[in-house]
Amino acid sequence: MAQIWKGVVREYADFMPEHILRDVVTLGEGGNALIAAPAVGAMLKEITGVNAKVFIKFEGRNPTGSFKDRGMTSAMSAAKGKGAKVVVCASTGNTSASAAAYATAAGILPAVLVPDGKIAMGKLAQAIAHGAKLLQVNGNFDDCLVLARKLAENYDVELVNSVNPDRIQGQKTAAFEVVDELGDAPTIHALPVGNAGNITAYWKGYREYYTANCSSTLPFMWGFQAEGAAPIVLGHEVDNPETIATAIRIGKPASWEQAVAARDESNGVIEAVSDAQILEAHRILSAEVGVFVEPASAAGLAGILKKARTGTFTPDLSPSLDKGEPMNIVITCTGHGLKDPEWALNDINGNSKGSEVEPVKVQNDLSAVASILRLPAPMTERDL
Ligand SMILES: *Cc1c(COP(=O)(O)O)cnc(C)c1O
Repeated sequence: MAQIWKGVVREYADFMPEHILRDVVTLGEGGNALIAAPAVGAMLKEITGVNAKVFIKFEGRNPTGSFKDRGMTSAMSAAKGKGAKVVVCASTGNTSASAAAYATAAGILPAVLVPDGKIAMGKLAQAIAHGAKLLQVNGNFDDCLVLARKLAENYDVELVNSVNPDRIQGQKTAAFEVVDELGDAPTIHALPVGNAGNITAYWKGYREYYTANCSSTLPFMWGFQAEGAAPIVLGHEVDNPETIATAIRIGKPASWEQAVAARDESNGVIEAVSDAQILEAHRILSAEVGVFVEPASAAGLAGILKKARTGTFTPDLSPSLDKGEPMNIVITCTGHGLKDPEWALNDINGNSKGSEVEPVKVQNDLSAVASILRLPAPMTERDL
C-alpha cells in the first residue's frame, strides 16, 4: 500500500517537542524529493574541474509555495494547542502567505504586518485570499518585526515569525529529508539568508540527525545574502537594505547569531551575491534545470557559481574526493517563481525583455508553424 505523507510534524514526530504534537495543524507540507541538476554539475566541472552531483531542494513545492510552510505547521500546531485565537507576523510576503493559510486551517485569525511598498503581488494575494487582517506599516520590515514582537508581548497574541522557536522545529525537517534521501548529509548545503531562520533550522536539523546516528557527516553550510542586504557579511546592520530579492531584503536578521554559529561550527561561509548574479542563477534554474523560483531563491546557486568563478570552490572541500567520488551539493530554492513572476519577463531594471518574451506571430497554418519551429518535413511528404 502506498504511504501517504502526513506532513512534517507527524512524519518527524520523534524529533518534535511534545507541545507541538498535541493539536497538529498541517496542509501536507514537506516530503519533496530532491531534483537532480546535472546542468549545474556540468557548469561546476567546467569552471573548477570538481566533480559534483548537484541537487535542488525545491521548497516551492510546499502548499503555499515556500519553505515557510514547514515552520508554520509547527508554530500553528503549538498556537492551537495553547488555544490561541490570534496570531501575528511581520512579513515581506511568504511568511504572511503561509501564516494566513495555516491559521485558516487552524481556525485562528492571522494578523499580518507588512512594510510600505515592494511586496510581490502573488504573496499579498495569498494572504488576502486566506483571510488575513493585513496592516501596512509605514516603516521597513525590521520595524514591522519589532511591532509584531511587542504586540505578542503585550497582548494575548502568538508571534509566528521565525524568532518563534517552534518555527525552527518544523523547518529543520528539510535537513532530515535531505539525509533520508541521500543516505547521509551532503558535502555542501547552500541557501539564501535573510532573517537567517532557515540556515539556523537546517544546521539544527543536520546536527540532530548526526547526534541520533541518522547521518555520519555534517555539511558545510554556505549561506548567501544579497549585496545590498548583507549585514552578516558586512558585520553591521544595514539601515536601508536594497535588492530585487525581496524575501531576503533584510538589514537586521532576527537569527543573526545562530546564522554565524551555523557558519562557524560547519566551517562554512556567509557571503554576498549581486542582483545580477541572482538573476543569472534564476535564469539557469528555470531554463536549464526546470525549476522556476522567485529571485531570492536563486541566491544559493548564485553563490555557488560565484565561488566557483573566484576560485574559492576547491576540491579539498571534501575528503571523499580523494577517492574520485563526486561530492553531493544540495541547494535550497526557497520559494516558487509564480510568487514574483515578473522576473521571467523583465530585466534587472524592470524593463520588458522585449523580443525574448514577445510571442512570434504566425498564420493559422500547420506548415507555417512547423517551419518556424524548424521541424523537418514529415515522412510522407519527404518521401514524395
Ligand atoms: C523567508 C525566505 C527567505 C529567507 O529565509 P530566512 O529564514 O529569513 O533566512 C528566502 N527565500 C524565500 C523565498 C523566503 O520566503
